[in-house]
Amino acid sequence: MQILKLLAMISFFSALLCGYTTTVNNNINIEISPALKVKQGETVIISIESDIPLKNPVYFFKGKKYKIYKKDKNSYKALLGISAIEKAGVHYLLIRDNASKLEKQFNLTVAKSNFPIQNIRISGKKSSLTVDNKELGLIANAKKAISKKAYWNDIPFDSPTKGCLVSKYGLLRYHNGKPTGNYHKGIDIKAPSGQIVNTMAKGTVVLAEKFRLHGNTVVIDHGQGLVSLYIHMKKIHVKQGDVVTANQKIGEVGTTGFSTGPHLHFGLYINGTPINPIQYWLKEILPCK
Ligand SMILES: [Zn+2]
Repeated sequence: MQILKLLAMISFFSALLCGYTTTVNNNINIEISPALKVKQGETVIISIESDIPLKNPVYFFKGKKYKIYKKDKNSYKALLGISAIEKAGVHYLLIRDNASKLEKQFNLTVAKSNFPIQNIRISGKKSSLTVDNKELGLIANAKKAISKKAYWNDIPFDSPTKGCLVSKYGLLRYHNGKPTGNYHKGIDIKAPSGQIVNTMAKGTVVLAEKFRLHGNTVVIDHGQGLVSLYIHMKKIHVKQGDVVTANQKIGEVGTTGFSTGPHLHFGLYINGTPINPIQYWLKEILPCK
């Protein structure tokens, strides 16, 4: 009886640690981590271990198809980013391959994160902050960069710069009490002007440019859909096309563009979806006092 109890406890804790696992056709193990229930802004990791080779495995989420990458012989991995404004409720996650060896649907529940709301009162007059479509287009394109190889493995990564957390991911922006659909897509790290900004992990610089609103901006493609963004920097020390290593100096903290004081806005994207960099990806950053 005691042994059974112990075994039940072990399986309970391993389930907590390893996420949800299931076996398909007796020879394909799928793990959905951290669980089949996640919160807005979180990262879902799909891992597959198979006895047989799979052909171009993919997953479908909200009508879009994403590649599942080969990690090793018969082992595969993919990331799924849940945005801060993803609809709470059950979403279908379908995993399958091209050789009809695998087809499995999961019910992925997204729970509300209850991000704080920032309401801005706007009068009839036009704000001085006008959208720059060219700038937005270039950044949006860079965020979607997907190279096949993953340049990262050991997580969590070091924070890109030393400092405290002055603004969290997910802050919902309202105008006159109404949601704008806009939210804080990264974190703001308060730090002195001129302090070194490092890359989070190895990757390729896909954008390094001075912009009017975002200021000095660097976007790095870390492979397999993971992209990091660094904005409002004082200086940029890399150029487009550079291959950078983890913790390499890429710029300096600043307040260029539409910014009210020296800080680094750091964003992390999975297949173009902004996710919470604090959860899962970065070592702890303490909030500013
Ligand atoms: Zn920010």
